[in-house]
Amino acid sequence: ERLVGAAPDSEDTAVEAALRPRSLGEFIGQERVREQLDLVLRAARARGGTADHVLLSGAPGLGKTTLAMIVAAEMGAPIRITSGPAVQHAGDLASILSSLQEGEVLFLDEIHRMARPAEEMLYMAMEDYRVDVIVGKGPGATAIPLELPHFTLVGATTRAGLLPPPLRDRFGFTGHMEYYGSAELERVIHRSAALLDVSVDTAGAAEIAGRSRGTPRIANRLLRRVRDYAQVRADGTITAAVAARALEVYEVDERGLDRLDRAVLGALLKLFGGGPVGLSTLAVAVGEERETVEEVAEPFLVREGLLARTPRGRVATPAAWHHLGLRPPEGPSA
Ligand code: ATP
Repeated sequence: ERLVGAAPDSEDTAVEAALRPRSLGEFIGQERVREQLDLVLRAARARGGTADHVLLSGAPGLGKTTLAMIVAAEMGAPIRITSGPAVQHAGDLASILSSLQEGEVLFLDEIHRMARPAEEMLYMAMEDYRVDVIVGKGPGATAIPLELPHFTLVGATTRAGLLPPPLRDRFGFTGHMEYYGSAELERVIHRSAALLDVSVDTAGAAEIAGRSRGTPRIANRLLRRVRDYAQVRADGTITAAVAARALEVYEVDERGLDRLDRAVLGALLKLFGGGPVGLSTLAVAVGEERETVEEVAEPFLVREGLLARTPRGRVATPAAWHHLGLRPPEGPSA
């Protein structure tokens, strides 16, 4: 488990419930999505109906689950939470849908990973609030129509482009979640610190925010590790110096790179002069699997403009040399 990984670890799962904003007003950042969602929900409330289906797209840890819970809370409705990988048969979906209460919010995380037959059943459910349950097999199979309560589907996906168009089109509204800026992450950290009864000053929060990779989940996790350090090695208050020293212990640098990220970047610069070098060669050089380098380390390095993937191989950018405190070689490359 990486300290700067965006997927939830076991401790996150236990603590996150307590840190979740409960209303749109409490939700920090994502101004556009928040305003759009506010309109959708207000209008639905005024009409006395259920809200339109909502699709949320964005990277892990940006607050999709939190927003789904807020949709339910703002509508005064219960919420049922499940995920695409958990819905492998149309029957799984039929039993969930038929047990919903009128107005309930159904949160389907990783909706792009749902099985195909279930996906097709969902089309009809979203549009007409009914499904056909197939009973029997072969020529004797019959479709029994089943009326469903009105519900609001909140689907979450890491990329809206992964969804088949017929499914995408059945959402009334798609919210694109962006990575958070430092000022927003600082607010997340101050809010969480207050809830956890931790004292953090402005510069301390900024120091953690800068290392959080634009992701509230990571900000909250780093805050907890820095809190430990502040308790054991300082007087309990998180200042910039305390945060910096704590995250040095955990090998998370000022830009949020961890040991693996730095190893990949370091090998690319020191062993291969900044590239281009093939992915497999780079992976062998750092003693990691190809997939680990490609899926775990590279996306953030690319996002940060430190590494580029080119047809000839991986190439470091001038910013990479600068970040590791190395001088780029003379000449036209780099
Ligand atoms: P995943 O796709 O991995 O499930 P997610 O996008 O659903 O992630 P959440 O579980 O909603 O992410 O959020 C992760 C943590 O970050 C939660 O503890 C939540 O409290 C916090 N968080 C997310 N967004 C915000 C925000 N805008 N303001 C305050 N806290 C936030």
